[in-house]
Amino acid sequence: MQPPGHYDYWMTNPLSAADPRVRAGIGSGLRIGVLALQGDFREHLRAVEASGATGIGVRRPAELDGLDGLIIPGGESTAIDKLARAFELADPLRKHIAEGLPVYGSCAGMILLAHDIADPATDLAGNPQQTFGGLDITVRRNAFGRQRESFETDLDFRGLDFSATENGVAPVHAVFIRGPWVERVGPGVEVLAQVEPADPAHASHAADLQGTARIVAVRSGQLLATSFHPEVTGEKRVHELFIRMIRGEA
Ligand code: GLN
Repeated sequence: MQPPGHYDYWMTNPLSAADPRVRAGIGSGLRIGVLALQGDFREHLRAVEASGATGIGVRRPAELDGLDGLIIPGGESTAIDKLARAFELADPLRKHIAEGLPVYGSCAGMILLAHDIADPATDLAGNPQQTFGGLDITVRRNAFGRQRESFETDLDFRGLDFSATENGVAPVHAVFIRGPWVERVGPGVEVLAQVEPADPAHASHAADLQGTARIVAVRSGQLLATSFHPEVTGEKRVHELFIRMIRGEA
């Protein structure tokens, strides 16, 4: 266990080997890469391995070959963009996405999968940050406000019917850490979850939301993205949805 303050400490409820779905090994036989340039890739690797899949940290172009799926972690999208270009990963990654590699992006990963950024950061020469693209969405970075940095809420999340009990599908507990929201979705992009301003649980964010429900999870074909971080709460179902997408079961 890391000392408090370390990012790993957020992982209060790690994926448990006692969980029946972990025992069933929903991911077994799969090779799932996690882009390991910056950010919380370790948490995603742990989530992937807890599902029974083989997790592979990806830092070199050759490590993209033979993957069944790839996760782009949370972190800092500008740093991941710069490092991906420096490590000559950006173009191969675009090619794999275009060829249908299933990819899940959380937070900074969502930004990196977006076609457009409403408010891109610029480098010292004035060049805007770049994305890998693939998802026909426009995101706004740090959309919920820098000052709050982090909040948690429960979301209704579509596509998790496999986890239904007699009480229905339990909400997803979502941790937002300077996350983006989705301002535009193109045709073919399915909205999976929104933060609803009318819900009293979100009252502290009503001003930021400006009375509008904000999209925080989307899917398009083999691409999945969330504004929040299921990898830090022990929420297994978003990774499971991704694995089911890889398997062609969702
Ligand atoms: N604000 C970060 C960015 O723009 C994302 C934060 C995160 O991934 N937790 O890249």
